Amino acid sequence: MESTSGHKTESVTLLVQAELVNSVAWLINIRWLAGVGVLGVAWFIDVVLLRLAISVLPLYLIGITILAYNAVFRFVLQRLLRNESRDIRQFDQLAKTQIAFDWVAMTALIHFSGGITSPITFYFFFHIVIAAMLFTQRATFAYAATATLLFGATAWLEYTGVLPHVSILPGQDAALFRDPLYSLGVVVFFASTMFVAAYLASTISARLRKRETQVIDLSQNLQRAYGRLQTLYEAAEAVNSTLELDQVLDRLVQRTAHALNVRACSIRLLDETGARLYVAASYGLSETYATKGDLLLEQNPLAKQVLAGKAIITGDVRTETGLQYPTQAITEGILSMLSAPLAGKRGALGLIRAYGDGLNHFTPADAEFLMAIAREGSIAIENAMAYRTLNQIDEMKSKFVLTVTHELRSPVGVIQSLLRTMQAGYIGTLTPAQQETMARILHRADFLQTLIDDLLDLAAGKSQLVQREGHVIVRLDEAVARVANRFEIPMQEKHITLKSNCEKNVTIAATEAGVDRILNNLVSNAVKYTPDGGRVSIKLSTNGTGANLEIADTGIGIPEESLPQLFQEFYRAPNAKAQVSQGTGLGLAITKDLVTHFGGHIAVQSKIGQGTSFCVTFPIVVDLPI
Ligand code: ADP
Repeated sequence: MESTSGHKTESVTLLVQAELVNSVAWLINIRWLAGVGVLGVAWFIDVVLLRLAISVLPLYLIGITILAYNAVFRFVLQRLLRNESRDIRQFDQLAKTQIAFDWVAMTALIHFSGGITSPITFYFFFHIVIAAMLFTQRATFAYAATATLLFGATAWLEYTGVLPHVSILPGQDAALFRDPLYSLGVVVFFASTMFVAAYLASTISARLRKRETQVIDLSQNLQRAYGRLQTLYEAAEAVNSTLELDQVLDRLVQRTAHALNVRACSIRLLDETGARLYVAASYGLSETYATKGDLLLEQNPLAKQVLAGKAIITGDVRTETGLQYPTQAITEGILSMLSAPLAGKRGALGLIRAYGDGLNHFTPADAEFLMAIAREGSIAIENAMAYRTLNQIDEMKSKFVLTVTHELRSPVGVIQSLLRTMQAGYIGTLTPAQQETMARILHRADFLQTLIDDLLDLAAGKSQLVQREGHVIVRLDEAVARVANRFEIPMQEKHITLKSNCEKNVTIAATEAGVDRILNNLVSNAVKYTPDGGRVSIKLSTNGTGANLEIADTGIGIPEESLPQLFQEFYRAPNAKAQVSQGTGLGLAITKDLVTHFGGHIAVQSKIGQGTSFCVTFPIVVDLPI
């Protein structure tokens, strides 16, 4: 991948640069030692080796000069380091200037310590090693040649008498520097030492540098792989955390674009005909491009291949013949593409495509990565599609129930009123036996009416009729008071005492009818399932952002094993069925639907034979958003 290799060379360069900066500092540090060393040797010759003939003054001077120029280099280095935008060429120049100064000092030192017979010549060796560490092989050879040249020139100048020869041991080497064969031999040996040293040191250093590059490369690959795994994990987490198809698709395109470090990504899904791919989600594409039209499989061999299960890299959109909209892609600034199939359990779902604005943006590793994302994404897409279908079926079922129950409502209403007319004796006097039968028929008809009402409510909620109704600010405390009032007489009949403790001015966003239905269901259950002489309590309190409503009774309670099914449609606990014949098992299902729809939460606590407590929480809303 272009950017990858870009990163690689960049970080290798950075490493080499850091090394150079460090080396320049290191050179300066060891030069203090060299300077002091020269001074020390001069002092040693001066004080201890009185035998030596050489004059030590130039040696002292050279030592001081080395320390002096080293101080200047240190100053320059510190200034360079302080500069935010470090120009590496300046460090390189500084290193080279240092070596140049050193070599002049070395040559002077050699001259003043015996020229061709000087033991200091060996010190050039260190400089060659240093050069090999800092510079290229070619530069190291150039340094070896310069060293030979400097040394040779000194020998030549002394030989020709242009430079006066300095003897270390008086009389003993007097003839050597004038001996052409000796001088030539020493220079040749010196040169070969320099070149061999340059070759060995620079080869080893080049090898080390290569290894270093490989290690950097490897660690970068590892880092990249880790990053991708992390993104893959995050993408999987993000897309699996929702069942809404649109959200799944949106998250998938977004995460993929980020993970592949590209500006855009899209998902196309197959339509019902299986011949077209429509854009189901896109990220980073212009409206014009995203809505340019469906892909027709017949006209798009590339898409066909992808749907067959292959990830395809398009390195250059301009030369790709399998695309349906190449011109639009170029106008959009897309030069390369990577497409991978989205495959479900029962066949192809569509394709996911990443877009690069550079040529050959994608590597085979990217293709593998996109395949992995696509596999993960396909599962999430399929789940979301199944969930959507289920919801659609549920809604269809609710609509059906709604229509049927609605149709049933009026005939049952008519039956009820006709029965009541007969019971009242308007059509003729009924015998006591007929009266009793009539009462039973009416009881059943009333139950039928309740069932129809509950079914209608449930279906209305499911078919999103409630959702479509606008929410208003509802005073929860007032609604509670109204419902409590409604049940005053039934409670008196059963000698139930009501304890009500409600905070005032508690407002939530809901519908009046919905809140009434919730409260009515819970309070009527409390009354219905509490035997004579029991207690019912209603408590409404707030805690900052939430309103808590608790409706508790001392009734028959709910068996523990029934609690998980309590909010399911038509569910009635066995003890309720045995003790209270009237009931549809729909009230709590409707209640839960409504509570959830108003952004609330419902929970139940119960002990069989002791009582039940329903806790409902709603978010407090004071103003509706406009
Ligand atoms: P039902 O028409 O049967 O009352 P609901 O949906 O309102 O239907 O309640 C479902 C079941 O929950 C009831 O049949 C009953 O078993 C149990 N239940 C609800 N409220 C209470 C309560 N306050 N005390 C005991 N059981 C209750």
